[in-house]
Amino acid sequence: MASGSRVLPWRRHQAATSHELAPLLAAYKRRHPKGSVSPINRAYDMSREAHRHQTRTTGESYITHPVAVASVVADIGLDEASIIAALLHDAVEDTELTLAEISEIFGDEVASIVDGVTKLDRLQFDSQEAQQAATMRKMLVAMARDLRVLIIKLADRLHNMRTLASSSPDKQQRVAQETLDIYAPLAHRLGMQEIKQQLEDLSFAALFPKRYAEVEHLVSTRAPERNVYLARVLGQVDKMLVGVKIKAELTSRGKHLWSIYEKMVQKGREFDDIFDLMAIRIVVDDVRDCYGALGVIHGHWKPVVGRFKDYIAMPNFNL
Ligand code: MN
Repeated sequence: MASGSRVLPWRRHQAATSHELAPLLAAYKRRHPKGSVSPINRAYDMSREAHRHQTRTTGESYITHPVAVASVVADIGLDEASIIAALLHDAVEDTELTLAEISEIFGDEVASIVDGVTKLDRLQFDSQEAQQAATMRKMLVAMARDLRVLIIKLADRLHNMRTLASSSPDKQQRVAQETLDIYAPLAHRLGMQEIKQQLEDLSFAALFPKRYAEVEHLVSTRAPERNVYLARVLGQVDKMLVGVKIKAELTSRGKHLWSIYEKMVQKGREFDDIFDLMAIRIVVDDVRDCYGALGVIHGHWKPVVGRFKDYIAMPNFNL
């Protein structure tokens, strides 16, 4: 009897989850300090078991994918049901696991999110523009029913784009184009700028690798001076805001590569003529402080005539 190889189930469980799931659980705990992680652990076990015979095109075991998707979802701060659904999002489509089983263990809410993601996966994508627009509309309908479905789908696409290099060249082109046409605009509509930018830059790299490399080179050669400059501006702004007693959170960012490229191509600009390569973000508590901070900034740096837009009074469509 091979009793020596037997491991008590709960020990096996702990050993398996500790490293792979740790970042996800940490992200969840950060946003939901009082939440219990045991249902998430349970969903992980279920998903790992269901996908046990599958591998990704990268050669990794399949479970790495739902875990990565669930981590993105947890980072955004979504609830327990979303994280569980993200862990199980491919299980109904690709394994023996059924919606009824998911519903029995995790309830109708989780099952209905998984069902929504499965249905979105079954939509046929085509490179025809009309078809894509139709898909877009269908997805928006799905969004109206449960936004969480759409966010999981975006997280799914993000991880698929991150691992796209292991697919065939044809597939890379098709998936990247679809991402640029459908998913990035969708992320934009939902106000998920970071995800949108990542999707665009990953698509850019897959579709136009040489141009991507060129823009990346242009940006990185200027990066050191730019960072010094941004740090100086942030320091100045911070001092000015403290001076007028406005409490604010300051961050800065460089423009992402795809939007630089778009500007160079669409507006025929030279790299050095792109004004908004860098930006700073000032987050304050209310609208009054918003205008207060703006006043302080404009008192120090004159706005460029015709370029200033007041999105406080007239919000962008994605709010
Ligand atoms: Mn997936």
